[in-house]
Amino acid sequence: MTTCYFCKGRVIEQLTSVDFRWGDDLKIIEQVPAQVCEQCGEKYFQAQVYKDLERLVQHPATIICHRSVDVLQYSAA
Ligand SMILES: [Zn+2]
Repeated sequence: MTTCYFCKGRVIEQLTSVDFRWGDDLKIIEQVPAQVCEQCGEKYFQAQVYKDLERLVQHPATIICHRSVDVLQYSAA
């Protein structure tokens, strides 16, 4: 894929960090190969990468740090 499905922006291959939700758990996985839209930031993953992410959140091989993540609910002003 070379253009973004949503905004038609240019999509480039890069390593990115991914917020991956697994049930009620939120894991952040870093250094994930993805194709990222330069314009809107939409991330595209290959099927195999996505499988790897699912495996990693269930059986974390390497936890490099632990952060607590605040999740906020949007509300209009
Ligand atoms: Zn885009």
